[in-house]
Amino acid sequence: MTQLNKAAMQHNLHPFSNNQELIDKGVRVIERGEGIYIYDTDGNKIIDGMSGLWCTNIGYGRTELSDVAKAQMDKLAYYNTFFQTSNTAVIALANKLAEVTPSQYNHVFFTGSGSESCDSMIRLVRHYWRSVGKPQKKILIGRWNGYHGSTIGGTSMGGMKSMHEQGDLPIANITHIEQPAYYELHEAGETPEAFGLKAANWLEEKILEVGADNVAAFVAEPIQGAGGVIIPPSTYWPRIQEICRQYDVLIVSDEVICGFGRTGNWFGFETFGFEPDIFTFAKGVTSGYQPLGGVMLSDRVAAGVLQGGELQHGFTYSGHPVTSAVALKNLEILQEEQIVERVRDDIAPYFQQRWQETFAPFAHADDVRGCGMIASFKVVKAKGEPFSDPARAGSLCKDIFFGNNLIFRSTVDNIICAPPLVITKAEIDEMLALAAKSL
Ligand code: PLP
Repeated sequence: MTQLNKAAMQHNLHPFSNNQELIDKGVRVIERGEGIYIYDTDGNKIIDGMSGLWCTNIGYGRTELSDVAKAQMDKLAYYNTFFQTSNTAVIALANKLAEVTPSQYNHVFFTGSGSESCDSMIRLVRHYWRSVGKPQKKILIGRWNGYHGSTIGGTSMGGMKSMHEQGDLPIANITHIEQPAYYELHEAGETPEAFGLKAANWLEEKILEVGADNVAAFVAEPIQGAGGVIIPPSTYWPRIQEICRQYDVLIVSDEVICGFGRTGNWFGFETFGFEPDIFTFAKGVTSGYQPLGGVMLSDRVAAGVLQGGELQHGFTYSGHPVTSAVALKNLEILQEEQIVERVRDDIAPYFQQRWQETFAPFAHADDVRGCGMIASFKVVKAKGEPFSDPARAGSLCKDIFFGNNLIFRSTVDNIICAPPLVITKAEIDEMLALAAKSL
């Protein structure tokens, strides 16, 4: 095991970490990246099976992105999109987003992160209903164990109980339903398809409980990522869409992880066959090279927002020229190198097949699953039998991989892998051979 760096923790509090433990133990300091590999300051070559935090879709070291960042900084390092101004980079990016999304999405509000996108979404949803004369439609329904960021709004919208407890949340008019987690929640003999319909109908029950006239939106990730790769059965999303249309409830897809190719289509809603009224994005839009996010509105919602007068919302960095230029180049690379098509037709099927071959036979792996370039399994005592402390089991397993220079993530007892979309078949083999050896 490599020597951990304690100096790194002297002044810096780390997110989602036990900081006292890290001060005692130290951390690995990552110095550079190339393709799917990152290198620490001790010279270790590490396979990044998580694309950073599900974001470096085009891999590390693409100098085209640093070139456009420098060129844009040299030309115009900052100007905003407030008060009757814009800049050429953000105009080009907004046009590109309208081009790569299905035809009904033509208006975008820019933010600096996924959390800001989810907060902005909550404000836009409520603004929309007020604008169209239904101000009582205020309640947003999310899902337990969903993740929509770490701000007050994002944490409230998400369903992470430990985050709620630490922040005295959620805020008013946000409520949650149970997640479509087949493995944990299905009854004996229930098929995934039947369970998917039942889980979607929990939304209808909640709408009827709080009153359809009060419900503004249903907000969910196509696949719950941070919650542990909960992939809904195929029946789930179409039924959710039916319910939302029936009760005039907006559908919001949080595409922060699934967007920009991760599931084998440009967006997760395309993979799961539904049409959101609004979707949030971040991460893959710049492949993590710059912090940028946004909220994309369908024409219906945009029309309502536009008729609502002055938008009382915005960030200094909404439409930042440098982050916009980098995002545009990233999207051009995704298009020119046909990365999304390659994921869908070639790399994801190979990755999923090899993931199954590697982990399904392993006695301590259960619920071996995946979609596109996301895969997971549960580390268990035996098939169908969880460890008594599942979170500790998952964390120890992840640490073993980490010690072998392989980054996977753990959420409770789920081991998660979401490598850069540009990973080759040989690199998939290398990554999974290292995982098998570690186990
Ligand atoms: N929404 C989803 C689905 C996410 O996975 C994340 C982050 O992982 C966020 C929102 C928050 O994004 P950020 O960390 O950029 O604020």
